[in-house]
Amino acid sequence: MPHIDPDAVALAALGEPLDAQERAHLAGCADCAREVASLAAVAAVARDGSGDAPVSPPAGVWDRVRDELGLADDVLPDGSAGAGPRAVAAGPGPGAPAAVPAGPATPARPVAPLRRGRWLAAAAAGLVVGGVAGGLAVGAALRPPAETVVAEGRLDALPGWSASGDAAVEEDAAGRRTLVVRVADADADGFREVWLLDAGATRLVSLGVLDGDEGRFALPPGLDLAEFPVVDVSAEAFDGDPAHSGDSIVRGELATPA
Ligand SMILES: [Zn+2]
Repeated sequence: MPHIDPDAVALAALGEPLDAQERAHLAGCADCAREVASLAAVAAVARDGSGDAPVSPPAGVWDRVRDELGLADDVLPDGSAGAGPRAVAAGPGPGAPAAVPAGPATPARPVAPLRRGRWLAAAAAGLVVGGVAGGLAVGAALRPPAETVVAEGRLDALPGWSASGDAAVEEDAAGRRTLVVRVADADADGFREVWLLDAGATRLVSLGVLDGDEGRFALPPGLDLAEFPVVDVSAEAFDGDPAHSGDSIVRGELATPA
């Protein structure tokens, strides 16, 4: 037999009862079961935090859904149809909910339940599409902007120290540069400070305190790396003197990546 109706898949995913035939198919069809499971997961996420109460879509959403599905203008989402078994399979009956304006449809058909099923299917499809689009948007927002390494270098221990490390300058699309410094095995008594030095190690710019094995330091926009190409990490005491202690742990020169 053919797979069960998409309406039934959506209903099953939303926890609505199915008729015996649909249940039997679902029990034996991995494809349909998988579809129900994935829609149910989406529905669960959508419900999470807002209880079981259906959330009204923003104005205009239904119009777009209706256009997308080529539904008649009088087809309206029906959130007011109460619980109870799905009435489609039961055929026309005096008990068919009539919460939706009847419109020009023939009264013999169980119009409201069918429409409700369609709305649920459309809503579930919308959740999937919205979820995917939302996920992409969130992913794009969370993903850091693409960064290019414009300079890098190894940091070697100075006499008396056994540490090692490396440094890299990353530049983002807007031209902002960040010095990334990694130093392993460098336990200083006080704290460690990161500097850029000129080639002669006579002029220096303090970039900040290195906390842990890795630190990121924004480079001032006007700073010329050709003028200050040497990365230096010093051991500093809490002596209130902002100058370089003269006790460098590691040092290395930045160069354009190979
Ligand atoms: Zn199937």
